[in-house]
Amino acid sequence: MSRDFIPVAVPDIGDLELTYVSDAVRSGWVSSIGEFIGRFESGFARFCEAKHGIAVANGTVAIEVALKALGIGPGAEVIIPAMTFAAVGAVVVHLGAEPVLADIDPACWCIDPRAVERAITARTKAVVPVHSYGHPADLRPILDVCGGRGIRVVEDAAEAHGARYRGRRVGAIGDAGCFSFYGNKIVTTGEGGAVVTDDDDLAARIRVLKDHAMDPGRRYYHLEAGYNFRMTNLQAALGCAQLERADEFMRKRSEILRWYREDLGGTEGLRLNPGMPWAEPVNWIVCAVLDDRLAGSRDALLASLREVGIDTRPFFVPLGEMPPYRSARQVGSEGTGNPVAARIAKAGFNVPTSVHLDRESVRRIAHALRAGLERLAGGRGR
Ligand SMILES: *Cc1c(COP(=O)(O)O)cnc(C)c1O
Repeated sequence: MSRDFIPVAVPDIGDLELTYVSDAVRSGWVSSIGEFIGRFESGFARFCEAKHGIAVANGTVAIEVALKALGIGPGAEVIIPAMTFAAVGAVVVHLGAEPVLADIDPACWCIDPRAVERAITARTKAVVPVHSYGHPADLRPILDVCGGRGIRVVEDAAEAHGARYRGRRVGAIGDAGCFSFYGNKIVTTGEGGAVVTDDDDLAARIRVLKDHAMDPGRRYYHLEAGYNFRMTNLQAALGCAQLERADEFMRKRSEILRWYREDLGGTEGLRLNPGMPWAEPVNWIVCAVLDDRLAGSRDALLASLREVGIDTRPFFVPLGEMPPYRSARQVGSEGTGNPVAARIAKAGFNVPTSVHLDRESVRRIAHALRAGLERLAGGRGR
């Protein structure tokens, strides 16, 4: 492998992070009590323009505890996108509920509100729109159709810290929103997650549930079978430093996407990150989707990039194509099945997007990508 290998994602951990984490370690408060927890929770809520922020162990359990607190369990159907990171599918299964796969919108690769509406049954209890790759899902029609029916909306915003939908930060637009602070996310705590919400009762329920469901008024008295989904003070210390730098990260990431657009815009057969008129996306990761006629060569293209030291990721595999979700009901915007997810998943991939990427590296990546595409086009001609 080339000496100057360019990975897809590298976190930016600096002196501020080191200072806060060593303060936390020195304080002796190494578990889930300590000054950084409250500071991170209120700071992150403010960042999301939400009333409450509750820190948890990771993004997956953020979704689990939010759905659990909303009463999702056996007998319920939960509508989720046909193509996303599969954590939300696993959570629905673990809660004993049934995932229903709504196809994605070909314009922004997020859950298609028309498919959501068609997927609703008398058993539907929640919808989890995912703000995929940093682009907000179209929430308004989903909230409209769910509101009158008592169906809860939980945003999976794990990939979209700071994005705006119709002027509002994502997260607390639905009943609750869930974030991940995994090492490749826009803000990291190593492992970590948060739920944000404007709902006082829901926030209180989540706080109790994630801490063994212990009665806040009576020690060692447990109200139900709870969880230990707590974040540590050490993780929160890292998060506090990252949060102070979140604007810088968002700016840097949009600059990187701008560079990619300069170098790749107009390349035939290739489309970069979407941008719907109602969205102010953040650039979690730069995406490229090949035209259908080139999609069959995607894996060869990614292999050729790897040979010159450029790391990539294929798009997520549609949930309905994997064992745990094969029997789930699949609903499209017009018929059955998830044809858009199937098509986009095969054609899409991610290219390096770390905040420290410089102009020259993006040029090198874009050049290699164009050369690979030209080879593919030549190969087809032979
Ligand atoms: C990263 C991610 C998660 C899971 O977060 P973890 O912190 O890794 O558990 C959930 N949903 C989406 C869309 C993600 O990208």
